[in-house]
Formats: sequence, structure tokens, C-alpha cells
Amino acid sequence: MALNLVLIGPPGSGKGTQSVRIAEKYGIPHISTGDILRAAVRDGTPLGQQVEATLASGGLVGDALMTDLVRARLSAPDLRQGFVLDGFPRTVAQAQALDTIVTPPLVVVLIDAADEEIVRRMGLRRICASCGLTQAVSADPESNGDEPHDPCPYCGGLLVRRQDDEPETVRRRLATYAQYAEPVIAYYRDRPTFGAVDGLRPASEVTALLAALIERRAPR
Ligand code: AMP
Repeated sequence: MALNLVLIGPPGSGKGTQSVRIAEKYGIPHISTGDILRAAVRDGTPLGQQVEATLASGGLVGDALMTDLVRARLSAPDLRQGFVLDGFPRTVAQAQALDTIVTPPLVVVLIDAADEEIVRRMGLRRICASCGLTQAVSADPESNGDEPHDPCPYCGGLLVRRQDDEPETVRRRLATYAQYAEPVIAYYRDRPTFGAVDGLRPASEVTALLAALIERRAPR
């Protein structure tokens, strides 16, 4: 049976990292709406020009645009074994739309983390300017976080802070999450295919918890 999986969680909860790991483990595509939008901005496409200011502000792109984008991506032929969806749905309207797009069961997992830990983690998060991969750099108490770092371990590209990981924007993104996430979680919470894991545990433990939960919710 296909594994149709949605990971929900605040920015910086490790959702992106876990999505990649779970997608690899099950051999299914990882679909990150944030990655799709950032790539569009980087490439200067019409979509990128349309969403650039919203991404920089830490606000949300409109439901209609996001739903069209996800509907198109989920209709691609590479998803017969399923997918890991990361960053969508962000609103109840998007969750309702997703129910009309995906054949059940849809497994939804919340990766939870407290705000203070998120702000700390995002201060250490960098994205590769060449390949777009996200990774953490080590904490240096002497540094203000903007010092040059080693190159990307995967492609040798330059690691930079994501524009929307600036502390001020992180606070705005957390406020956006606080405003929209609770109703989305409430929308899914009573379903037998919903589960939650503690995102504050070490990343490998979170992956193991997630895999165990997936096996219970959608035995394969
Ligand atoms: P992310 O990488 O998931 O944190 O997304 C980065 C930014 O892309 C967000 O702060 C939003 O501006 C935008 N974005 C990504 N996914 C969505 C979505 N499902 N609905 C609205 N905006 C989104």
C-alpha cells in the first residue's frame, strides 16, 4: 500500500530533516512546499516573483495558489508508492483541499518542539546556496552566527543563513505557526491515522519514533 504521509510541525522542529530521512527509508519522494517556493524565487520564475515578498516577510502564501501547486505536484506519476509532504497543509482550507486530492489513508504526524529550542536551532541553521540542502552548523559562543562556515559537505557550495531564518523573521514565522497550526492539528487529531512525536529528542530517535508510528498507522 502507498504511504501518503504529512508531517506537521513548527519551523525548526526538524520536520525537513525527518521528511528527507523517512522519504529515503520508504523510497518515496519528499515534497517540501517551502523548497518548491524557494527554488522558484531563486530561479526568478513568475511563481517566484509572485511569492518572494511573502516568503521574506514570514507570512503565508495564499491557499488557492498553494493548493493548485500541491494538486499539480501530487498528480505526477512518481507517487505511486506514496509521498512525504512537508509544509502543507498550513491552514484548514489547505487540509480540506488535500482530502479531496489524496486517496486515504493519509497518515499525519505532528513533530512538536518548544519555541525557545526552535529559535536556538534556527540560529544554527544554514542552507547551501548551490544545492539548497539545509544543515546545522556548530554553535560557537564567540560568534554572532554570521561568520563564514565550512563549505557544504555534499557539493562544496557556500552555506548561508536562509533569509527567513533571521531572528526577527523567525519570530514572525513562529507567530504565523501559532496562529494557523492549532486548527489544522484539531482538524486531524481525532483520526486514527494521526500521531505526534517529540521533536526535541535527538534526530535519530525522532526518525525511529516516526517509523514506528508510521508502521502502526499504515502497516506495510
Ligand atoms: P517552510 O520551508 O516550510 O518553512 O516554508 C517557507 C515559507 O514558504 C513559509 O514561511 C511560507 O511563506 C511559504 N509556504 C510554504 N508552504 C506553504 C503553505 N502550505 N501555505 C502557505 N505558505 C507556505
